[in-house]
Amino acid sequence: MTFKDLGLSNELLKAITEMGFEQPSEIQEKSIPTLLETEKDYVGLAQTGTGKTAAFGLPMIQQIDTDYRAIQALILCPTRELCIQITKEMTQYAKYKQGVSIVAVYGGASISDQIRAIKNGANIIVGTPGRTIDLIDRKALKFDSVSKVVLDEADEMLNMGFKEDINLILKSTPAFKRTWLFSATMPKEVEKIANTYMEDPFKVVVGIKNSSAENIEHKFCLVNGRDKYFALRRFIDHYPGLFGIVFCRTRRDTQEVAEKLMNDGYNADALHGDLSQGQRDAVMGKFRNKTIQLLVATDVAARGIDVDDITHIFHYDLPDEIESYTHRSGRTARAGKSGISIALISPTKSSKIKLVEKQIGKKLDLVKAPSGQDICGMQLMKMINNVKEVKVNEKGIAPFVAQIHESLAEYSKEELIERFVSVEFNLFLKSYEKASDINIDPSRIRQGRDRDDEGSGRRGRDNEGRGGRRSSGEESANRVFINVGKMDGFENKGQLLGFICNQAGIDGGSVGKIDLFDSFAFMGV
Ligand code: ADP
Ligand code: MG
Repeated sequence: MTFKDLGLSNELLKAITEMGFEQPSEIQEKSIPTLLETEKDYVGLAQTGTGKTAAFGLPMIQQIDTDYRAIQALILCPTRELCIQITKEMTQYAKYKQGVSIVAVYGGASISDQIRAIKNGANIIVGTPGRTIDLIDRKALKFDSVSKVVLDEADEMLNMGFKEDINLILKSTPAFKRTWLFSATMPKEVEKIANTYMEDPFKVVVGIKNSSAENIEHKFCLVNGRDKYFALRRFIDHYPGLFGIVFCRTRRDTQEVAEKLMNDGYNADALHGDLSQGQRDAVMGKFRNKTIQLLVATDVAARGIDVDDITHIFHYDLPDEIESYTHRSGRTARAGKSGISIALISPTKSSKIKLVEKQIGKKLDLVKAPSGQDICGMQLMKMINNVKEVKVNEKGIAPFVAQIHESLAEYSKEELIERFVSVEFNLFLKSYEKASDINIDPSRIRQGRDRDDEGSGRRGRDNEGRGGRRSSGEESANRVFINVGKMDGFENKGQLLGFICNQAGIDGGSVGKIDLFDSFAFMGV
């Protein structure tokens, strides 16, 4: 089956060929002819990364009457990032169809610029619900001639509390319009929207409902909450070419994990709703052009975003809404590529694994956080490969060669190799020298073992070093969990220390850092 067989016009065919689309994906194959030919409402469910934007975007553009200067179609989506992304993608499809004007409207950017763009003759609007309502209120947007409305990532719009806004927006569109809903998952709420807003829609499900893309490897790593950060870093250090997203549950965790990574010398940045529009654009820009290696994001901020070649998705915590797991892991393995999704799970949250498995219809495989030795081996081999592949600039080094040979003459080849490797590697080796095994044996899962669950790894092995950059090694002292805390009358660490020394007959010098919490404490020994 080709795009031509689907009934697309030459203008569109030319544009998508240029974009490198050779064959339609399954959802495109099923949706495009139906959306071109029938007047029914439509629900299209397909896994993440399978090209849903083109599945609705191409038939939408084809049906725009460019002689008619009015807004003929509206696409609603949950975030500004998605809004910008869809607009860009659609603009590319429309490259050879003269007179199609696609305008993005979203919050945080100049509303007067957007009003001007609308007045200049927009015929397709891509909007977030909030800004769209704003523009309706200001009489800048009128949907009397809208004949198609797309709801993209409808469940996320509902999660974000846009239900009322969507109601109002849809009320301002004519009764004859058609509504197309596209999603990767079909939670109850989406089903409800379909029932509320759509009349006997034509439904197409590609693959299994709510399932995830085929080519994603789903894994989980079992570690204590306080070791999560270190587990994350070990995975990152173990895959030199890694390019990925770390999902956190809250904005605060997102910011915290990103800051820690940056402090530890990684190319990372945060994306969440507390940032200004400018900051968010800057971060997305850096991620898209791969200036940053790791995007640390909330579910909302990263919903639907399409960035090429993401190799890894990390779940710092599993999401509260299990559907989000599918959307998260779907940021990788896009357009037929493959990817890895790794959930960092503490023992108390291990029951969630089953929920995820049920959601995606697949088992998650246990993966161990790489050991210090694994990581050093991997990094060493990477360095050796760099040595093999480096292009020698003979001219540039010529003036120094004689001198270099002379001063290294006393060493054998073996010694030289060891020395060159050590220059790069001593710090790295040192930082992982005392790295202990942070993996938890799944057979030992017991409730209540892990008291330090929600933290972002602030406590515990606070010093696990980044190889070669900063490093002070893993904290060598052992941390002991004590089941007394402030609630037991210890108002400060000193009181607890005094009590312990008295009871155990030891002196304060042999006790390390104490972290005192409401019902428990940690102590270094
Ligand atoms: P979804 O919304 O289903 O998650 P997108 O619409 O964001 O997926 O598309 C994912 C990526 O695949 C985009 O980069 C898009 O340009 C690309 N793509 C879509 N359709 C095709 C196709 N038929 N052939 C090749 N690439 C495609
Ligand atoms: Mg999409």
